[in-house]
Amino acid sequence: MIREKAYAKINLGLDVLRRRPDGYHEVKMIMQTVDICDDLTFEKREEPGIGFRIEGSDLPADENNLVYRAAALLMEKRQIREGVSIILQKRIPIAAGMAGGSSDAAAALRGVNMLFEMGYSAEELKEIGVTLGADIPYCIQGGTMLSEGIGEILTPLSEPPACHLVIAKPDIDVSTAFVYGHLQADKLPFHPDIDGMAAALAAGDLKGVTDRMGNVLETVTVKEYPVIDRLKQLMCGLGAENALMSGSGPTVFGICRERETAEKAAAAIKKEEPAASVFVTGFCNNKLL
Ligand code: ATP
Repeated sequence: MIREKAYAKINLGLDVLRRRPDGYHEVKMIMQTVDICDDLTFEKREEPGIGFRIEGSDLPADENNLVYRAAALLMEKRQIREGVSIILQKRIPIAAGMAGGSSDAAAALRGVNMLFEMGYSAEELKEIGVTLGADIPYCIQGGTMLSEGIGEILTPLSEPPACHLVIAKPDIDVSTAFVYGHLQADKLPFHPDIDGMAAALAAGDLKGVTDRMGNVLETVTVKEYPVIDRLKQLMCGLGAENALMSGSGPTVFGICRERETAEKAAAAIKKEEPAASVFVTGFCNNKLL
């Protein structure tokens, strides 16, 4: 049996450079894995095909799920005749801006590759993964990365200095397609200083990182859902160095120097927004491959 962990990510910075004629957006973002994960197990079975079950969520375990699609893609490529049973234990909030689906798909690519000893390299898995989703190449490896192009050009960065995170996902689901569809990429009011943040990471300068946190997708999601701004204000008011929406939202994270600050902010959010999913956690830079 093979076990894989699928970690959630946040974006410390997210910029969109332009909308390409083919409809994809060219991004420049700093991705960071956090210590919230789904667990996947992979086991061979005699019956051909893919058996798939999800625990901890009522997300349908059908052939639209990215785990199923990733496993099917690799097995078709290698004409695998045996079958596989996959169990996904879901913990990452869904439609949250934390790349839960992409990370599960990446874990499925890693898991199936290993289970059937297919021998694909990380680079090959990334090339296959990008055909299923732009964030999947990053999720195959995880860590702290600059992500450019549509998400397929990855450059490892220094991991951030030790700190603590409060993460809150309000009780609303946000569609990534809606947010990118409504983004006015040529009229953005600001561009976060991604290069400056990469330099601050290299220098181990936490303030240099938190001072440069910015996400251009907030221009769409915050307008639609004011709760995001309320969460940011709450976190900053309770001592977070800074707070930002992750990805296309609605998840908000705050970076705190002390664990106690993150815990106090989490308690306050649970009172103000009782339906939100709230976590106190940290970054996670384990090598996945
Ligand atoms: P991103 O940050 O990459 O935009 P997200 O956190 O906003 O991702 P996901 O949780 O990955 O969003 O899911 C978005 C949609 O993808 C879900 O509404 C669901 O229908 C579909 N989906 C397919 N497979 C999965 C999976 N394994 N886990 C979660 N969602 C999945």
